[in-house]
Amino acid sequence: MRVVLLGPPGAGKGTQAERLAEYFGVAHLSTGDMLRAAIAGGTELGRQAEGYVNAGELVPSELLADVVKERLYEEGEFLLDGYPRNVAQAEFLETLEGLTLDGVLYVNVDDDTLVRRLSGRRICPEDGTIYHIENDPPPNGKDCGVCGAELIQREDDREETVRRRLGVYKEETEPLIKFYKSRGLLAEIDGKGTVDEVFTRAAEVLKGYDRGFADDHC
Ligand code: AMP
Repeated sequence: MRVVLLGPPGAGKGTQAERLAEYFGVAHLSTGDMLRAAIAGGTELGRQAEGYVNAGELVPSELLADVVKERLYEEGEFLLDGYPRNVAQAEFLETLEGLTLDGVLYVNVDDDTLVRRLSGRRICPEDGTIYHIENDPPPNGKDCGVCGAELIQREDDREETVRRRLGVYKEETEPLIKFYKSRGLLAEIDGKGTVDEVFTRAAEVLKGYDRGFADDHC
């Protein structure tokens, strides 16, 4: 399957994409993760992107185009998380031959919930595991339950940057809802509730896109 996960920052796209990718056996491609890895690794892309990411702004699309294209062709099937972020990127995606999307899953969450979720989010700097100080705390309250590394708060999860990211989302990314609706690709789910509840809703939709699912799971 080739599916885009669309939704505001804090909608739970990353958490859900990780679980869904494992459940359906496809790659989880996150442009945010790619950029954070590039920044941590001090690559040319990382150096150019760092200022934008830390300020909560979108990285210029031309910086991302090649790396996204390469990763998409490498995988062939994917859950794409964090891309496209604007109409220009969606149009770029449509130019990639053989990578037609099966669907776009829009995870809808209200603003108050988003701010609460983002400011409580903590991540493992080593393996990327995501926690939330209230909803999904790590086993001992501060370290990664998988590898033991001390959890950190993403630079761009601080309150002021969160507000900026929500503004950027509404201006640049929200128009994609209409864009994909007009192509008959959009499916919407309610992103409120527990991680398990949202997972169940998302998996129900994705089953419809997965050609091999019925054979594998019956
Ligand atoms: P995310 O982890 O998806 O919230 O992304 C974190 C940050 O990475 C965003 O706030 C942007 O600065 C940058 N970013 C991620 N994906 C994109 C994209 N498709 N286009 C531009 N910037 C992006």
